[in-house]
Amino acid sequence: MSSKKITSYIWSHDLSPEQSCELIARANFFKKTLRNTPENQPLRGRQIVLLFVEPSTRTKLSFQMAAQRLGAQCLIVDDPASSSLVKGESLQDTLWTLDSLGPDMVVVRCGGDLALDQLADQLSCPIINGGWGSQSHPTQALLDLMTIHNHYSKLEGLKVALVGDMDHSRVAASLAPLLLACGAQVKALAPESLYAKKIPGVGELDSMEDLLDWCDVYYGLRVQFERHQSLSTKKQTLEQFKQEFSLDQHGLKRLSPQGVIMHPGPINWGVEFQPEVESDPRFLVRTQVENGVYMRAALMDFLLESEK
Ligand code: ASP
Repeated sequence: MSSKKITSYIWSHDLSPEQSCELIARANFFKKTLRNTPENQPLRGRQIVLLFVEPSTRTKLSFQMAAQRLGAQCLIVDDPASSSLVKGESLQDTLWTLDSLGPDMVVVRCGGDLALDQLADQLSCPIINGGWGSQSHPTQALLDLMTIHNHYSKLEGLKVALVGDMDHSRVAASLAPLLLACGAQVKALAPESLYAKKIPGVGELDSMEDLLDWCDVYYGLRVQFERHQSLSTKKQTLEQFKQEFSLDQHGLKRLSPQGVIMHPGPINWGVEFQPEVESDPRFLVRTQVENGVYMRAALMDFLLESEK
């Protein structure tokens, strides 16, 4: 793997586009081999802590399964009520405590108020961002890069449309710059009330029709109902969102037969996607989840290998 080594992974640009693409090869190698060769466990003897103080199913379990398949021991802190967080210890102090315990790596999912990037620079063990507020979710971006690359055998020139909650989606914030850096084109379609923060280099689409005629990858973003009430204002209602920004049977007909449909999950069925999307052969969401295990394995292996 190419030159500059990093120890923590907080933003998708912490790895160069070349390093990100090289991780795809490593992840695909693990996808072929990891289950079948228990003797080949590069992280045997390592201890990896998952500190998850925001809800998670896919990310947490895929990190856990990846760590275990690599031979590492995986310790999980995900219930604030059973840690000192309930006594009022701050998340920052919790991370310092974990660091002092001496794990080989900590994967953190947390809200946006923690200065995770600054903290990662001060701690001695490598930190992986497992989803940070609305700021970033770079391992989701990596697994999506892998899924798109595996499908098309390229990234250069592909047209990726992001649809929905652009303002609150940390996935959009991490995926768009990574795709652009790898030579893909990225455009967004979002209601005005959910698209105030523009991402440099991301173009705009005017309508669902334009989007469906343009894109290779239709990427639905979950409406982050837990983070805002933008769809209950007079300006934009949930019903309007469903009419203008939901993928349904008409959209499926218009989308290119060679196109693919992605979403980071969890899907709000009836909001981002209508139920008929699930049985469409272009629906790649299960593949994204599967790839998540191997991409996270590849990343942990890469970050820890220089210390072997
Ligand atoms: N699971 C992804 C995340 O944690 C996507 C989402 O929740 O909308 O950001």
